[in-house]
Amino acid sequence: MATTLHHYVNGERVPGRSGRMGEIFNPATGEVTARVPFAGTPEVDGAVKAAQAAFPAWAETPPLSRARVLFKFRELLLANLDAIARIVTAEHGKTIPDAKGSITRGLEVVEFACGIPQLLKGEFTESVGSGGIDAWSMRQPLGVCAGITPFNFPAMVPLWMFPVAIACGNTFVLKPSERDPSTALRMAELLTEAGLPDGVFNVVNGDKEAVDALLHHPDVAAVSFVGSTAIAEYVYKTAASAGKRVQALGGAKNHMVVMPDADMDQAAEALIGAAYGSAGERCMAVSVAVAVGSAAEPLLERLEPRVRALKVGPGTDPESEMGPLVTRQHLEKVRGYIDHGVAEGAELRVDGRGLKLQGYENGFFIGGTLFDHVTRQMKIYRDEIFGPVLSVVRAGSFDEALGLANDHEYGNGAAIFTRDGDAARTFVSRAKIGMVGVNVPIPVPMAFHSFGGWKRSLFGDHYVHGPEGVRFYTHLKTVTSRWPTGIRSKAEFAMPTMR
Ligand code: NAD
Repeated sequence: MATTLHHYVNGERVPGRSGRMGEIFNPATGEVTARVPFAGTPEVDGAVKAAQAAFPAWAETPPLSRARVLFKFRELLLANLDAIARIVTAEHGKTIPDAKGSITRGLEVVEFACGIPQLLKGEFTESVGSGGIDAWSMRQPLGVCAGITPFNFPAMVPLWMFPVAIACGNTFVLKPSERDPSTALRMAELLTEAGLPDGVFNVVNGDKEAVDALLHHPDVAAVSFVGSTAIAEYVYKTAASAGKRVQALGGAKNHMVVMPDADMDQAAEALIGAAYGSAGERCMAVSVAVAVGSAAEPLLERLEPRVRALKVGPGTDPESEMGPLVTRQHLEKVRGYIDHGVAEGAELRVDGRGLKLQGYENGFFIGGTLFDHVTRQMKIYRDEIFGPVLSVVRAGSFDEALGLANDHEYGNGAAIFTRDGDAARTFVSRAKIGMVGVNVPIPVPMAFHSFGGWKRSLFGDHYVHGPEGVRFYTHLKTVTSRWPTGIRSKAEFAMPTMR
C-alpha cells in the first residue's frame, strides 16, 4: 500500500490541500511506494508566513544558542544515519554505503555550521578617525531563505544549504525533489526534536508550481537552487528579477584527463568509481575520460573488463556496486543517449542496455556503458547524460585535453591524473572549472571550503557552504561610531577625511 506524504510547516505535518499528487517509486522494483502532495501557491504562502513569523525571534537568538540546536541535530542525524540511508536508497535507488557516505558529507556541513559564533564574528577597527571614531562590520541574517533541491542527493544537497542558513539566523523553506522527498521530511522532524523553534525550518513538497510560488513570493529574501542547468538559469533569472539573492547550481560534464605517465591502474580504478558510482547520477561524476596520446590503449584495456564486471543490483544488496536509475523516464532517456552515441559513430565498447536482473524485471536498471572514440561534436559528449555512461575522448596533447574541458559549456569539476607536477600545476592554473582534482577523481570540497562550478554550472556569485555559504546567507553591515563629549562638531560640507 502506497503511503501519502505531507508537508512540514511550523513544526508539524500538514496534509496537502491542492489535490495534486505525484508518485514515488522504489527504483529497484518499479513499484509505487508513496504519493506526495504538490503544493499550490496558498500552501507555499502558508509555509513562508510561518517562516516569516519565526524569523525575528530566531534572528535575535544568540549564535551560540543557535549552534547548540545544531549540535543536537548533529547527534540525532548520526543516531539516525542508518535509517535515513534506508530512506534515501528506497526512493533514490543508490547503494546503502553510498547513501551513508552522502549523508556524512551533509553532516559535515552541520558540523561546520556549529562553529557559527566564530564565523559570524565581525571585524573591528579602533580609531578609524580622530576624536574617538571606531568602525566595525557585522553580518546579519537575510530573512526567509528558500532551498530547491534535486533528486540525486536527497539528504546532502539540502544539508549544503539549511544548516548554514539557519545558523546565520535565517528561517528556511525547503522544496525537495518530488522524486524522493521523504528524507527532507524526516530531517525536519529531527530538527524539531533537536529543539529548533517551530517555523524556522519548513518543507513544502511539489513541482514547478511550488517553485514558482517561492520565486515570486515577496517575503522570500534568498533562493538556493541545485538542479539541471536549464532550470537553474530559469530560477536565477526569475528570482533575481524579483529582487532576491540567488545561487543556482546547474549540471555538469566532468572531464578526467589521463596523461600517458599516469599510474594507469590507479587512473582506471578512479574512473570506474567516479563514472559508475551512484549509477552516474552525481553532479561530480566523471562522464568524460580524456586519454592523452599513448594513454588510451592501456586505459581502455583496464576499463573494459571492469565495466563488464560491474555488480549492478538493488541498493539494499550489500554486493551491489551500482543501483538502478531514479525513474523509468530517466532510464529511457539514458538508453536514448546510448542509441544516439551509436548512431553518431562512437565505438560502443560495453553496452549496458541489455541488462536484465532476475526478480527485478520492473526495476529501472541499466548496465555500465563505455564508449570510445567520442568526439566533441557528438551529442553524448555535449549533453549531461546523468547515467552510467563513460565517454573516452582521445586527445593528441595536453593542450588539446585542457581545451576540451575549457571549451565545454559546463565547468563544475575536472581532474588530471599524471606524475608530472608541471602538467598538474598548469592544469590547475588554467582550467576554467570550479573544482579541480589532481590524482583525485571527484574533488568535492569539504564542508569548511565551498562548493560550486564555473560557466553554466553555476548562476550567481556565491558557492554553497563553507565561508561562501555564510556570505550568501548574510547581509554585511559596516558601522562607524562616535560618542562625542565636550566640543560639538559643526556641519562639514567637504568629504570627511583623516587629518
Ligand atoms: P531538476 O532541474 O529536474 O530539478 C531540480 C529541482 O527543480 C526539483 O526540486 C524540481 O522539482 C524543480 N523543477 C523541475 N522542473 C522545474 C521547472 N520547470 N520549474 C521550476 N522548478 C522545476 O534536476 P534533477 O533531475 O532533480 O537533478 C539532476 C540535476 O541536478 C543534474 O543536472 C545534476 O547535474 C544537477 N545537480 C547539480 C549539482 C551541483 O552542485 N551543481 C548537484 C546535484 C545535482
